[in-house]
Amino acid sequence: MTVMRMSALYAPTLKEDPADAEIASHRLLLRAGMIRKEAAGLYSFLPLGMRVLRKIENIVREEMDSHGGQELLMPFVQPAELWHRSGRWDDYGDELLRLKDRHGNEFVLGPTHEEIITNLVDNELRSYKDLPKNLYQIQLKFRDERRPRFGLLRGREFIMKDAYSFDMDEEGLEKSYQQMREAYSNMCERMGLDYRIVKADSGQIGGNESEEFMALAESGEAELVYCSCGYAADVEAAAASPRPVQYKADTLEKIATPGVHTIAELAEFLDCEEAACMKAFSCKDSEENIWVLFVPGNYEVNEIKASRIVSGFTPLTDEEMEKAGLVKGSMGPVGLPEGVKVAADESLRAIERWVVGANEDGFHYVGARLGEDFQVDAWSDLCTVQKGDACPECGLPLQSARGIEVSQIFKLGDKYSRSMDVTFMAEDGSEQYFLMGCYGVGVSRTLAAAVEQSHDDMGIIWPVGIAPAHICVIPLTVGDDLVQPTAERLAKEADALGLEVVIDDRNERAGVKFADADLIGWPLQVVVGKRGLAEGKVEIKLRRTGEKRDVELTSLAELLAFAKRNAAGKTSGYFDALFNR
Ligand code: ATP
Ligand code: MG
Repeated sequence: MTVMRMSALYAPTLKEDPADAEIASHRLLLRAGMIRKEAAGLYSFLPLGMRVLRKIENIVREEMDSHGGQELLMPFVQPAELWHRSGRWDDYGDELLRLKDRHGNEFVLGPTHEEIITNLVDNELRSYKDLPKNLYQIQLKFRDERRPRFGLLRGREFIMKDAYSFDMDEEGLEKSYQQMREAYSNMCERMGLDYRIVKADSGQIGGNESEEFMALAESGEAELVYCSCGYAADVEAAAASPRPVQYKADTLEKIATPGVHTIAELAEFLDCEEAACMKAFSCKDSEENIWVLFVPGNYEVNEIKASRIVSGFTPLTDEEMEKAGLVKGSMGPVGLPEGVKVAADESLRAIERWVVGANEDGFHYVGARLGEDFQVDAWSDLCTVQKGDACPECGLPLQSARGIEVSQIFKLGDKYSRSMDVTFMAEDGSEQYFLMGCYGVGVSRTLAAAVEQSHDDMGIIWPVGIAPAHICVIPLTVGDDLVQPTAERLAKEADALGLEVVIDDRNERAGVKFADADLIGWPLQVVVGKRGLAEGKVEIKLRRTGEKRDVELTSLAELLAFAKRNAAGKTSGYFDALFNR
C-alpha cells in the first residue's frame, strides 16, 4: 500500500458546526471532510468518506459471497413497464421518481429492484435444477423521501446492497433467509455496531416475514421494544396489549363537556383514567370510504396496523372531516353520519359501555353500549405498542429503545413471481412460481450509523474494521532532519506490516494536527516530537479512550506487529492491547 499524506489529501475539515446538521453523524461527517451536501438528500463522498464506504462495501461483499450470494449490477433507471406489470406503478406512491426520455418513454429511478431482477431471471432460471440462486448488487437507489434529513441516514439518493433469492419451496426459502440473517449479523459484528435484530412489518415491499437489523442509537428514527426473554420487535410490528378500563355508567347518557377536546381533558373532566375513554381517529381508504378508528385513550393509533384493515389508509384533513360531518375532538360511534365505517382495537371488545364523543362539539356520551347503541364493523390490533406492554412471548413487561434501521431481510414468497408471472419447471414437470426473498443493507446509512454510535465531543471514533486508515503518524515539526524523517520511516514500517497509514506532513501547528486527527477519528495516533526522540521515544494515543503511552522508537514496529496479530479476526479493540500492559 501507500502511505497517505495529509498534505495532499482532499479532506477539507471544518472548525465550526455546520448550521443545518442536527445530529452527530451528520455534523461530524461534514466537519471531518468526508461528505458534502449538494442538495436536500444528495451528498458527495469525499476521499475519506469514500474509503469508509469501500470498507463497508467490502465487508458486505465478503459476507454475501461466503453465504451463497453472487454479485451483479442492474440498471438504476428502470422501464415503467415493469412497474406496471408488478402493480407498483400505482401502489408505490410519491417516493417513486418517474421520468421520460426524449421519445416519451416512461422510466423510474430505482428505489429497489424486485421488478428488474424478477424480469431478469424470467425464462433464464428455467428449472428447479437451477435453484437456489441468490443475486445481489451494491448500487445507488433513489427515493423521493418526504423529509430527507440527518445527512446520510435519510437521503434521497443512497447506496444499498440489495439481494434477491430464488427458491423452489418453503424449505429452500427458509434456508436462504437464514443464510442472509447470518451474513447480516456477521456484517454488523465486523463493522463494530451495537445492534439488535427485531421483528418487522414488511411494509411497502410486501410479503410475510421480515426482520430488521437496528443499530441502537438515541437519535434513531425507529422505535423498538424488547424483552429479557430475547423477543424484540419494531413498534410498528409488535402486538400491543392495552388494558382499557370500564367507566361506571349503567345507561347511555349524553353529558355537556364544554371546552373538552383531548383525552387528557376528558379524563380530567370525568375524573377517570385515560384508559377508560376511547380515542377516535378519522381516515379514508383508497375507495374514499370514511372510517373512524377507536383505541383506548392511553394508546395511539398505529398507521401501519390500521392500513391492514383500511387499505390505502390516509388520515383526513380538517376540511375533509368537516365535509364528512365529523366533529374534531368529539367523534364517537353513536350517531355517526351515514356510511361512515367503524373499526376498533381488539382490547375494546371487553368494554361493554364506552366513553366516546357525541359527534357534537362540547358533548360526550358515557355508557354507550357496544352492540346496542352502536356497531363495530371491524376489530383489529390497532394500537402502537408501548413500553410496559406484555411481551407476546413470555408476558413480562416490554422495554423500549431507539435505533437506526441499517438493514432488513424479507421473505417475499411468490408476491413478485406471481404478479409478474415468472415461473420455473418443478421436479414433477409443473410450472411453479419462484419463492423469493429480498435483503437490503443501507450501505451509506450504515456509515452514518457507525458514527452515531461511536464519537465524542472531539470527533469520530472509527471502529477499526471500517476506519479510513488505522494509524495517523504525526510529526510535530516538518522540514527538519530528525522528526520528519523518523516519522516517515515509522509510517513506512507500519505500512509494510499491512496496516493502513496516513502521515500528517502538513506544515501546521501541533494543535491543528491533533484536533484534525481527533476529528477524523483514526484509531491510533503516533506522535513524533523532538523531545521524545531525544530519549528515543514516541507517543502513541488510542483515539477510543484517549489513553497515551510513550514507547521506545525501536520497539514500535514490534508493538504494531503484535497489535495486528492480536487483532486477527477481531472487529474492535485492535490497538487496545498496546495500552493495558
Ligand atoms: P425506512 O423505514 O428507514 O424508510 P425502509 O424500510 O423503507 O427504510 P428498505 O426498503 O428496507 O428501507 O431498504 C433497505 C435499507 O436501505 C434500509 O434498511 C436502510 O438501511 C436503507 N435505506 C432505506 N431508505 C433510505 C434512505 N432514505 N436513506 C438512506 N438509506 C436508506
Ligand atoms: Mg426496511
